[in-house]
Amino acid sequence: MNVDREVRYYQLLEQLLSLTQIVNQKPDVPQIEAVLNEIAAMFRLAKGVTRFFRNPGDEKNDVGERMSSFDTGKECVPVHTVRFVSRFMSITTMTIYMEESETPLTQEEMFKVDLVMRTTLAFISRNRLQVIAEELAFYDDLGFRNIRSFFKYLSWKNRPGDMDGMAALHYNMRHFGLVNDEFGRIGGDEVLRNHYRHIEALIGEDGAIARLGGDAFCCVCAQSDLPEILEYLHEASVPISTGGKMAKVSARAGVFMVPDGFTVNSPDDIMTKIMSSFHVAKTGDQGDIVFYSEMLMSAREKANRIMKMFPIALKDEEFHVYYQPKVNLVTGEICGAEALCRWFHEGKIVPPTEFIPILEECDDICKLDFHILDQVCRHIRKWLDEGRRAVRVSVNLSRRHIVNPELAKTLIDIIDRNGVPHEYIEIELTETTTDVGFRDLKRVVEELQKKHICTSVDDFGMGYSSLNLIRVIPWDVLKIDKNFLPLDEEADDSVRSIMCKYVIAMAKDMGLECIVEGVETPAQLKRLRENGCDEAQGYLFDKPMPLEEFEKRLDMVKYEIPE
Ligand code: C2E
Ligand code: CA
Ligand code: CA
Repeated sequence: MNVDREVRYYQLLEQLLSLTQIVNQKPDVPQIEAVLNEIAAMFRLAKGVTRFFRNPGDEKNDVGERMSSFDTGKECVPVHTVRFVSRFMSITTMTIYMEESETPLTQEEMFKVDLVMRTTLAFISRNRLQVIAEELAFYDDLGFRNIRSFFKYLSWKNRPGDMDGMAALHYNMRHFGLVNDEFGRIGGDEVLRNHYRHIEALIGEDGAIARLGGDAFCCVCAQSDLPEILEYLHEASVPISTGGKMAKVSARAGVFMVPDGFTVNSPDDIMTKIMSSFHVAKTGDQGDIVFYSEMLMSAREKANRIMKMFPIALKDEEFHVYYQPKVNLVTGEICGAEALCRWFHEGKIVPPTEFIPILEECDDICKLDFHILDQVCRHIRKWLDEGRRAVRVSVNLSRRHIVNPELAKTLIDIIDRNGVPHEYIEIELTETTTDVGFRDLKRVVEELQKKHICTSVDDFGMGYSSLNLIRVIPWDVLKIDKNFLPLDEEADDSVRSIMCKYVIAMAKDMGLECIVEGVETPAQLKRLRENGCDEAQGYLFDKPMPLEEFEKRLDMVKYEIPE
């Protein structure tokens, strides 16, 4: 070997060593390849083949990855092989080839080539293992990047301003169960994958996306890409390979617009913001996409405090039933009552509007409703045992119960355990807007009816009541919301007056019991009587009251109904 070549060889070797020893940084593969190509040419080599086997078994069965380098494409034969076994028992081999007509390597040349091969092999082995470790650590079973990879991404962005102009999102697919029902589990996975790929492409290199599990994802993108991403989340038709079908997918998302100069000291600084705004989005009260703001979060913090306090408050019996009488408009007698929950907390009475919507975000509301039903049953049993007049009491059930296939059974268990005859209980349910909810609602009402437990449609006329709701489901009682009740000064021919009149007439024609809530004035009462309404409930008669007071009302003969 001449001196120039000798010097060049050691220059290249040194370069190779420094290029392959770098840790915690992406290796410069093209540069490494350039060095190897030059060395190969220097030693008259025709080709190099590297194999990687994850374990000795794979090597024995010859299943591994194969990579060729500096391939001249000429006919050649193997001349030397090096094998490297890592601490993890993965095996990397490299074989070099020469044309048969080429001058064979001298012993000294072979030594130099061998050194290069060993250096390269150690590097490839380490690199492959790192990729494999990353695959295991940063991808989930469906091949999506996972939360660890998202945290790692955020931990890179730890200098002030690193996330200027970026937005972070947490989103969940809506009703993804329906997609799984329609396309099967595998089809559902494909929809998730295609949806993810689309967002990944919109985000580009600078952002990140990860799956948190199920149909929940989080991502970081440029604020300039956000409108397009939100539009896709709002509604997307995702292609599916079977039969050229499309799945309609929409999502609910919490978004944090990262302000300029923001520092991500820990991934939590981003996660808490996107999770809490997502929690608000999930309720649907403020739309499907909710942007993080400090104001929103103080409400959120209050909600979190309530959720935390709830199990203790329930155990400590802080929730009490108040009763609001229902009055027969012909006789003036109390014909029933509605059970309404009050929370006695730290010397104050918290009204249900302050905690029920929060408990409805999770299944805690169901525990509360069962607890209230249990109290009501105990009170009715007490009235019966004391020989007092007992009336039918209606109990409110949150919409969240409806999907529970055991609901009717659980309710009946509570009623029977307390020895209460079924005709003393009425269950108030509110209307629903989805088809699935509709089916469940019908099932629950029918199951209760079989056991002679009355059911009523609460708040009729308030939401999206459809006449279908009362045509298809065999309710016993229609509770007309106070919104349908004309105001005192309202003319007889106002839309509200006419609707109120006809809804009452329709309910009666259909054989439904009909009660109007929120009656506050004698004029309203008069109008209801003219319209043939049987029953009413409202401040005109009484506000909801504690048990002892309600018992006194039960003993009272009747309310006065003006002619
Ligand atoms: P809701 O079921 O529509 O109950 C009627 C609400 O109207 C009650 O409010 C009652 O106090 C109020 N109200 C009665 N008469 C009048 C009136 O003449 N004028 C006016 N302006 N309001 C009247 P409350 O007790 O604050 O309950 C609010 C809502 O909280 C209830 O509305 C119900 O949706 C929910 N809620 C109460 N207790 C429970 C419970 O145990 N479980 C569930 N799931 N929800 C409950
Ligand atoms: Ca009610
Ligand atoms: Ca109501």
